[in-house]
Amino acid sequence: MANTISLRGADAEALVLSNGLTAVLIDVLCLKGAEIAIAAWQKEILVRLARHDAAIVGDGFTGFDLTDILCDINPAEGAGFLSDICSMAEQEKQWSGLPYSPDRELLLGALLRFKELCLLAGRYLPSPSMPFHSRHPYTLCNRHGVYLHEEGCIFCNNY
Ligand SMILES: [Zn+2]
Repeated sequence: MANTISLRGADAEALVLSNGLTAVLIDVLCLKGAEIAIAAWQKEILVRLARHDAAIVGDGFTGFDLTDILCDINPAEGAGFLSDICSMAEQEKQWSGLPYSPDRELLLGALLRFKELCLLAGRYLPSPSMPFHSRHPYTLCNRHGVYLHEEGCIFCNNY
């Protein structure tokens, strides 16, 4: 089974990724993103990504649409944050924070295509009428350093 990462309504080809590669992409975004997230809206993006946790939603259901990830968030800022994470991840030589060794070529390919979709989302999605307001506190897993979603840590749950 595969998962789709899309930008609905936009004239853009969705990413269709295997379950394994979807999990690696989300893990990497959550892990690297947590290193640079400062604002609540940045942490919110990471929590929304982490909710696509295969242990909770099941393999084949971990895809997402960027419209939902960036909902109520300034799309240009959100896209900039996500593409910065991808750029950081592309520079990574070793994945000391991951509990497995990802296939580097597959991961780099997914990061590149995801970054393109994010940059398109930044131009395509409308700006929200209200500034983003966090509805909950953001907590890091003290083992893995990623932001927790409502069902816990995406790493603790899966590995
Ligand atoms: Zn954890």
